[in-house]
Amino acid sequence: MALLVARDPQPQQMLGPIHVALLELARRHSHILGDALQIGLRQIHKALLLATIRAAGLALETHSCHALIIANPRPSARDKLKDVRLILLLPLVTIGALAQTAPAPAGPASAGPGFSTANMDMSANPCLDFYQYACGTWMANNPIPADQPAWGTFNALADRNLAVLRGILEKTSVDDPKRSPVEQKIGDFYASCMDEPAINKLGATPLEPELKRIGAIQSKDAILDALVRLHRTGVDALFNFSSEPDAKDSMRMIAGADQGGLSLPDRDYYLKDDPKSVKLREQYVAHVQKMLELLGEAPALASADAQVVLRIETALAKGSLDLVSRRDPNQVYHKMSVKQLAALSPSFDWPKYFAGLGTPSFTDLDVSVPEFFKTLDAVLKNTSIADLKTYLRWHVLHSEAFLLAKAFVDENFKFFGQTLTGSQELEPRWKRCVKATDHDLGFALGQKYVEQAFPPEAKARVLTMVKEIEQMLGDDVQSLDWMTPATKQQALVKLRGVTDKIGYPDKWRDYSSVKIVRGQAVGDDQSATEFEVHRQLNKIGQPVDRSEWGMTPPTVNAYYNPQENNINFPAGILQPPFFDNRMDAAVNYGAIGAVMGHELTHGFDDEGRQFDAQGNLRDWWTPEDAKEFEKRAE
Ligand SMILES: [Zn+2]
Repeated sequence: MALLVARDPQPQQMLGPIHVALLELARRHSHILGDALQIGLRQIHKALLLATIRAAGLALETHSCHALIIANPRPSARDKLKDVRLILLLPLVTIGALAQTAPAPAGPASAGPGFSTANMDMSANPCLDFYQYACGTWMANNPIPADQPAWGTFNALADRNLAVLRGILEKTSVDDPKRSPVEQKIGDFYASCMDEPAINKLGATPLEPELKRIGAIQSKDAILDALVRLHRTGVDALFNFSSEPDAKDSMRMIAGADQGGLSLPDRDYYLKDDPKSVKLREQYVAHVQKMLELLGEAPALASADAQVVLRIETALAKGSLDLVSRRDPNQVYHKMSVKQLAALSPSFDWPKYFAGLGTPSFTDLDVSVPEFFKTLDAVLKNTSIADLKTYLRWHVLHSEAFLLAKAFVDENFKFFGQTLTGSQELEPRWKRCVKATDHDLGFALGQKYVEQAFPPEAKARVLTMVKEIEQMLGDDVQSLDWMTPATKQQALVKLRGVTDKIGYPDKWRDYSSVKIVRGQAVGDDQSATEFEVHRQLNKIGQPVDRSEWGMTPPTVNAYYNPQENNINFPAGILQPPFFDNRMDAAVNYGAIGAVMGHELTHGFDDEGRQFDAQGNLRDWWTPEDAKEFEKRAE
């Protein structure tokens, strides 16, 4: 996962200002702290400092969760958002210092575990090991649970949110005529997912119609038809296609074709030849074989088919851009005509593919990685129909494995959970089903979550905090000694242009056209995914809807979107210990305040600084300031 670490570097000179801003805010508010918290101002300052340094990505452990987010083995329409679009927050392990272990008696807003000095290790010397001093008792009391690859207060909060969502879903899954349409949708989806006996009885039969259609393919034209069907239901095969904001005209959505079609998280998994990577690929092939055997293939055939899958995916990986290069927005933006795309991959009938998907008409699109589409062409030309069919069958199976009978779920977890991410135990079914509901119907479930966990007064207070931090960041940009007035002026324009999105969207998504049928878990997932794919495709040619969210309300995370110049804080992270409406301002500035600062600095980091106030990829730096920035970012 070493490469993933490089995903989120932060130039330290921009942290200088945000440090100062946070420390100043803490100082202003800390008089209220008093003796009750038994913690001196100095320590708060140190905690803030540490939190901010960690936010800068200097501590490896904070990055492990980044890796987990990216390594999420489940492909979906939403995962296809290009990684340049959303810059995820770094989990702040430090905030372990601000957590306690007592379980919440009720919802997170009313009594979640918040700040407590009981989490500190007062026996440690803060001058020698501040982390132990700040988080020692919390760490001792919170070993990594067996079903988790890593653990921190992020995870603990995510778990508490899951419990709240479970309460909502258990209630709404009772077949009651008094349910609202939203309650019925999420409740029935959850009920289907939880009905393990029915799912086990079905085995892999929900996939049979599609597998049969693939089995009957006899021409490469028919491969294209299959690909259309698969892409409509969110199966990640061969490449990705969706809509995206035009990086150089940030008000407009355009069509975008991108690399894709891999099952492992990234190209490097296929190409690195160190012993660990070689072994992981062997384990992957064994996994594909086992899954195909579960589908009914004889071992010898399944073994050969697994090699075919690896061969095709490796070929696609070779044409893919690595994660570090993908951080450079210019490297993943190549606007061209459909004709030019067709010249890159003449073996593929693009107009027929677009017509099959039912996209609005368009003439230009962003081909993020042109080299990849040359590779795609070679793969399509040089691979037999039989092998392409094998590859497609695998991707159909892989994409719904988590909703099939137990044997599939277990084998899927064994490789993608245990081997790949280091989890020891499969999460209990209710957790997986809560997550699936959040994934597929997140803005319906989120509506119920917000009613319960994020009152309007909390939202108002969070907004005030964000505004204050933005003000402080502005003051500090003014005071930078290395930046010329011209660039400062532009930086302030950008900072003032930041939109603060707090908690949840102003308008809830309408899922009324999604067909949810109790007892059809795979079908429900496919309907919801098809809805989402269609929704994304329909944006082609439309203005960008900046009110939309890239994370669901219960998510414990936050992001800065460089193309919209906005920060997004879902209600799920605005809970103790990150934000606690019962707590003093100093505690909240020390916790979520650092996260807010972190997200804002993304607008000015190595990637974010390349976008302007409107979210356009446009250089607004004077050459000498840009040079200074690069020097300081070294
Ligand atoms: Zn970040």
